[in-house]
Amino acid sequence: MIEIKNVSKWYGQFQVLTDCTTEVKKGEVVVVCGPSGSGKSTLIKCVNGLEPFQQGDIVVNGTSVGDPRTNLSKLRSHVGMVFQHFELFPHMTITDNLTIAQVKVLGRSREEATDKGLKLLDRVGLKAHAHKHPGQLSGGQQQRVAIARALAMDPICMLFDEPTSALDPEMINEVLDVMVELAQEGMTMMCVTHEMGFARKVAHRVIFMDQGRIVEDAAKDDFFGKPHSERAQQFLAKIL
Ligand code: ATP
Ligand code: MG
Repeated sequence: MIEIKNVSKWYGQFQVLTDCTTEVKKGEVVVVCGPSGSGKSTLIKCVNGLEPFQQGDIVVNGTSVGDPRTNLSKLRSHVGMVFQHFELFPHMTITDNLTIAQVKVLGRSREEATDKGLKLLDRVGLKAHAHKHPGQLSGGQQQRVAIARALAMDPICMLFDEPTSALDPEMINEVLDVMVELAQEGMTMMCVTHEMGFARKVAHRVIFMDQGRIVEDAAKDDFFGKPHSERAQQFLAKIL
C-alpha cells in the first residue's frame, strides 16, 4: 500500500533523510519512533507529498508521489492524516468540520456528508458535541474529531504524526483507544508515536529512525525483544 524506496531529502545543505526504504502493506500497522529531529515527521509528510524529496520514490496504492504528473491533492484526498496539533477549522462547527471536505472534495451531498460525519462522530464517542466549535472541546476530544474527519473521506490508509503528544495524560488513552479500534478493524496505518503500549498492542512492525536513516525495521516482537542497533536499545531503555 505504501512503498518507500530509497528516499533521500535535503533542506538546503542539510540532509534530513538518507536512503529510507520500507513498506507498509495493506492492513498493516507500522509504528515509527526515534529521537527528536531524526526525520520521522519529514518522512511521513513525504508519503502524501506534503514535503518534496529529491531522491527515490514513494508509491501509495500504485500512485507515485515523486512523479511530477501525479495530482497530489487527489492522492491526499485518499490518505488520512492526523497531526500533533488538531488542525480543525476553529470558526466552524464540528459538523461543518466533518462535512466540508466530503462536499468540496468528494462531491457528496450535504445530507450524505452530514449523515456520514455524524456516524463517525458517534463512533469516536462525541455525538453530543456536533453543534459546538472546536474551542469548546478538550484537546483529546478535538483529536478524536480530527480522526473522524479523516475517516469521513474513506481513506485507503491513515498517517499519524504524534497524535497524542500534545495531550494531557488523561486524554491520551481516549485517542489511543480510537486508534487501536481502527487498527483492529484492519486499517492500514503508519503512526509516528512514542506510545509503546499502543505499539505493543497493535503494531505489526516498528521502525526506528536516527539521523534521517531507518536504522531498525523489525517485526514488533523482535523490536521489543531486542533491537539490533545500540541506538535503538538506548532509546527503548529511556522510554520504556
Ligand atoms: P520530533 O520528534 O521532534 O518531532 P522528528 O523526528 O519528527 O522530530 P523532523 O521534524 O522530521 O524530526 O526534522 C528532522 C530534521 O530536519 C531536524 O533536524 C529539523 O531541524 C530539520 N527540519 C525540519 N523541517 C525543516 C525545515 N523546514 N527546514 C530546515 N530544516 C528542517
Ligand atoms: Mg516530528
